[in-house]
Amino acid sequence: MIYNFSAGPAMLPASVLKKAQNELLDWQGLGVSVMEISHRDPIYIQMTEAAEQDLRDLMAIPDNYSVLFMHGGGRAHFSAVPQNIASADATVDYLNSGVWSDIAIAEARKYVTHVNEVAKVAETPLGKAIPPISEWALSKNAAYLHYCPNETVDGIALYEVPEVGVPIVADMSSMILAEPIDVSKFGIIYAGAQKNIGPSGLSVVIIRNDLLATQQERVCTVMNYKVQAEQHSMYNTPNTFAWYLAAEVFKWLKAQGGLEAMAELNRAKSSLLYECVDNSSFYRNTIAPQNRSRMNIPFQLADSNLDTLFLEQARAEGLVALKGHRFVGGMRASMYNAMPVDAAKALVDFMTRFEKAHK
Ligand SMILES: *Cc1c(COP(=O)(O)O)cnc(C)c1O
Repeated sequence: MIYNFSAGPAMLPASVLKKAQNELLDWQGLGVSVMEISHRDPIYIQMTEAAEQDLRDLMAIPDNYSVLFMHGGGRAHFSAVPQNIASADATVDYLNSGVWSDIAIAEARKYVTHVNEVAKVAETPLGKAIPPISEWALSKNAAYLHYCPNETVDGIALYEVPEVGVPIVADMSSMILAEPIDVSKFGIIYAGAQKNIGPSGLSVVIIRNDLLATQQERVCTVMNYKVQAEQHSMYNTPNTFAWYLAAEVFKWLKAQGGLEAMAELNRAKSSLLYECVDNSSFYRNTIAPQNRSRMNIPFQLADSNLDTLFLEQARAEGLVALKGHRFVGGMRASMYNAMPVDAAKALVDFMTRFEKAHK
């Protein structure tokens, strides 16, 4: 048994992969693979429509939002967002809560003159924390506020949606579908697929329709939200296989009980691991409790000389991809929807034994 804690591309539900394997050479009795037919074939379009409907059901997406299945993963939208909904001389607000926000900010600066960082992570007595929204240095006339609800590298999350009177844009790459959210509080939600949706390269964009009207002429057409909305995400050939797998993941999520069930599962898994870390002086996590991610949990060994041995022995027990991001060091356990609670139990059990052996 292998438990794959990779941050992304990450594990997918085994039953989804099995189904894809079974129908790889003959999809829906066509005698050919889903990869080998036209994206404009009615049978393929039917699949994409079901995928959109399933996503709408899962996230309770209101009717005045468009759902796009686009190219370029998460990062493509770091530049697509400012190009689509801000003019070159606009002011835009960004929360800087970690590595991914930082990259999004750098990208936005290429397209918009005034990129204002409203707040950044600060050290507090309880650990690293995002300053309260009431203390953010908001601009008076921002075209939008961008934030990343779950910083995948740092393991920092913001559970409160900032409602500040401008369109809220959220990079949900590593927490989309992990818990119910109120879509109506957002202007744009985007996510690279490879953490909680499907294979890499695909991205999902959920955009409030009034923001489509403000689109800028200069946007590269493939990344133009208005064009893609009008063309049902088929202005150019979509990543047909990734879209199909995403559709299967959505069906799987519905069968599991939807996002309420996922939220419960994700709480259970992360609590097990944080409890283990908090009850030990051998492991530590440096994030303040209110900002701890339930998806990506970085932890460090008090003695980093043991890192290599920890990783080797974990791997021998089938616990793989626990090495932390190079920016943070130590370990990181990513536990997206497809990860069962048994994986968290197995990891905690291993960590407890490793601590005993090396304390
Ligand atoms: C992984 C990730 C990205 C980057 O996704 P790509 O598909 O590699 O572009 C962006 N934002 C967040 C929060 C991520 O976790």
